[in-house]
Amino acid sequence: MSSVIWYLYEFAQKSWAEKFTGAKSEHDIVEKPDRFRDFPVVLKEYCIGCGACTAACPSPTAIKLVRDKDTTEEVGRVYPVINNRACIRCGFCAEVCPTEPKTIECGENHLIREEFTILPVEKSYVIDDYLCIRCKKCMKACCVEGAIREEDNRILIDQAKCISCGDCLESCPVKGALKSIHIANLDEQKEIINLVVSKLEKTLEDKEEEIRDLPRDKLFKMELPLKPIMEDSLKILSDEELVHDIIERVTDRLKLRIITWDESKCTQCRLCVKECPSGAITYSPDSGVKRDPDKCLRCSTCYQTCPFGVAGYFVAKFLMDDQEDDGKIMITLKPSLLPITEPIPETLQESK
Ligand code: SF4
Ligand code: SF4
Repeated sequence: MSSVIWYLYEFAQKSWAEKFTGAKSEHDIVEKPDRFRDFPVVLKEYCIGCGACTAACPSPTAIKLVRDKDTTEEVGRVYPVINNRACIRCGFCAEVCPTEPKTIECGENHLIREEFTILPVEKSYVIDDYLCIRCKKCMKACCVEGAIREEDNRILIDQAKCISCGDCLESCPVKGALKSIHIANLDEQKEIINLVVSKLEKTLEDKEEEIRDLPRDKLFKMELPLKPIMEDSLKILSDEELVHDIIERVTDRLKLRIITWDESKCTQCRLCVKECPSGAITYSPDSGVKRDPDKCLRCSTCYQTCPFGVAGYFVAKFLMDDQEDDGKIMITLKPSLLPITEPIPETLQESK
């Protein structure tokens, strides 16, 4: 009974009438109060595909990296896609995104301001679930409680707890299963990557004469001193440890496709000219069939098309070896095992 009296008392108040008549319309309510953060907005043109956002997101299905299909003009773009139904608007993805400007924006967020950043480190560590053998050595080596944990038979690094000491990386027995990603000096990092890749490519192009006639069951091996590459890279970025890490990451993951061209075998049949998807092979009555290496996509179509063995197709892999003072990059190149048009015997070529 007392509650009925209380209600009557409430309704008699002037303030109740004001609240009732001044109730917010639906339009007013959808306006986001300042203290609420927006859903993340993705500016995919800035994405470098590092995966830091997916590693930081605490909601299992809120964010994923996708990759557009490759075209003949360019390699498919990698970028994050946000599922607003699963997103809890914590803003961690925007916070850890290392690009400048950021690929992911999430409205005003005190955590994004430099002085409050919860990743006070220049490196973040990620585990490649495909390579990880779940030995848990990293978990044992880590000195921060909960920074590395096991969940659903996966080993995960909690980026918010990680202090980037690198002990986990030291302890991991599988090369590549644990990686460190530098989240600073991105432009310089890209420049060093380009420098290393072009140096390796140039080294192999200079060996074209030697590798051209390599039998299909043989390997070509050579070593390249690390020192000159380090020296050139240090002119771009003076942090020796960082430069060393970048070169190691590039060389250990890189695969280069090499196309060789033995003009002396060319019969000017021109089969390759119309098959080449990039217009790298041209014909003119004056200069005959020519290949422009700068336009070449290394797709190997010419290698698979030419019946006279003019084009060769090889795949090169690299490994950095810095155990001793005189570090080196070891290069292994092998002929492709793709099927090719059977070579035309030389005797038949002459009788043509
Ligand atoms: S805002 Fe938070 S929950 Fe939403 S996608 Fe980013 S990290 Fe995930
Ligand atoms: S590999 Fe041969 S076919 Fe392919 S783009 Fe290069 S030259 Fe053209």
